[in-house]
Amino acid sequence: MAEEVDVVIIGAGFAGLAAARQLARTGLDVLVLEGRDRVGGRSWTQATAGIPLDLGATFVGPGQDAVLELARELGVATTPTYCAGNNVIHWRGKLRSYRGTVPKLSPATLANLGWVRWQLARLTRDVPIDAPWKAPEARRLDAMSLRQWLVSVRAAPATHDLMAIAARVTWGAEPDDVSMLHVLRYVKAAGGLDRMLDVTGGAQQDRFPGGTQEIAEKMAAELGDRVRLSTLVDRIIRDERGVRVRCGQPEKPAGDDENCEVNARTAIIAIPPQHRAAIEFSPALPAEYQRLMRCWPQGRLSKAYAVYEYPFWRIDGRSGEGLSDTGPVFITFDVSPSPAGPGVLLGFVDPRNFDELEPGQRREAALAGFANLFGERARHPVAYVDHSWGGEEFAPGGPTAAVPTGSWTGVGPWLRKPLGPIFWAGTETADEWTGFLDGAVRSGYRAADEAASWLARPD
Ligand SMILES: Cc1cc2nc3c(=O)[nH]c(=O)nc-3n(C[C@H](O)[C@H](O)[C@H](O)COP(=O)(O)OP(=O)(O)OC[C@H]3O[C@@H](n4cnc5c(N)ncnc54)[C@H](O)[C@@H]3O)c2cc1C
Repeated sequence: MAEEVDVVIIGAGFAGLAAARQLARTGLDVLVLEGRDRVGGRSWTQATAGIPLDLGATFVGPGQDAVLELARELGVATTPTYCAGNNVIHWRGKLRSYRGTVPKLSPATLANLGWVRWQLARLTRDVPIDAPWKAPEARRLDAMSLRQWLVSVRAAPATHDLMAIAARVTWGAEPDDVSMLHVLRYVKAAGGLDRMLDVTGGAQQDRFPGGTQEIAEKMAAELGDRVRLSTLVDRIIRDERGVRVRCGQPEKPAGDDENCEVNARTAIIAIPPQHRAAIEFSPALPAEYQRLMRCWPQGRLSKAYAVYEYPFWRIDGRSGEGLSDTGPVFITFDVSPSPAGPGVLLGFVDPRNFDELEPGQRREAALAGFANLFGERARHPVAYVDHSWGGEEFAPGGPTAAVPTGSWTGVGPWLRKPLGPIFWAGTETADEWTGFLDGAVRSGYRAADEAASWLARPD
């Protein structure tokens, strides 16, 4: 027997859960179907040596009001990211200290970097976030990758390398892989490059000491049995009256007894655009929606944590923030739970030449990266963990989509265009803080409003 609900929501990440919570509060009957055996999606907190460590999303900052307000409502506290003391950069074989976001490099390099940043800020001004394909130079900017644009503005080799680091951590991609129009829209949605990359005053200013997944778990607890885990949606049949959704356990073949069917008046699909392709739609989606799934691939990023008895780098006057042009660890932060210890270093790791290594080799490679920045002591943690988002079997990739050239001008208008009773959420569809937890929450609220209006329309 098929279940009957008002709104079925596919995906129990921040977007899907925020949508469900908002709709359930208005008295609508909602059901969230999640393929994984946990909620949170790209937010996943695992305890290592008793410390909750975020293998996915970690940070939050000013301007991310939707997720901050949600955390406040749910009683989830934030704590400032530790940033006192000197940052370090391992660059061209040398280790140097610096303060702030911009590392100590030669005056010529800094001047070139400043020039490129100024050019980028100037271009973002004319990009309409909700319709970037209407920007004055949309076609030209969407036809070139970030790397091609850097060449066109005569970026110095060091500027190229720094922007490549920014691309790796932001989109999980290389500058060749991302459209310049996407870069401009993304940076604008985050309130500018400084806001996106800074700790103080920026997106890395704070974190959730209990882990970001606690927010998803609290939303799911409110929803109770209206969230169903290990339930993968593989088919959606739609007509003007609503949708029929077929779902099953990821390991069971379609048609198995334990597969289920849900009839709903409307659906919110709260998964990354690339993963929409794993669902069979009937009737088939119009051509533009199908092309969109292929034009919005997820990036790949890995993370490593090393736990020490105490944050020894602080004794040397170091903040734990580091930058490296020698892989695989290319950015680090101090996320220690307390000054007395344990000390925890978080490293963003380049997945190339890392993900395919054996666990022991990965650990050795990541610890060598920490040691490059913080000395030999970093090779001897009391605990270590890493995670490769590109290697996930189900719904792989992250932190967000790495949108290639031609995508926004080709199929951008279809990214979140409702299709009859189907509405689209997920951080990739957000206009503010797209790619972040905050964008996910905002997209969930927007899709919930759209679905509620659809339900309230006169017959
Ligand atoms: C390594 C890493 C670091 C990050 N750091 C930060 C950070 O510091 N700050 C920040 O704000 N953001 C960060 N992010 C980004 C942030 O995690 C995402 O923006 C956010 O979690 C996206 O939420 P979402 O709900 O849009 O999508 P998701 O979290 O991807 O949720 C989608 C859900 O849908 C499920 N699903 C997919 N297909 C199906 C299907 N067919 N049937 C059923 N279920 C399905 C998936 O399992 C998933 O649970 C990071 C991400 C990564 C990977």
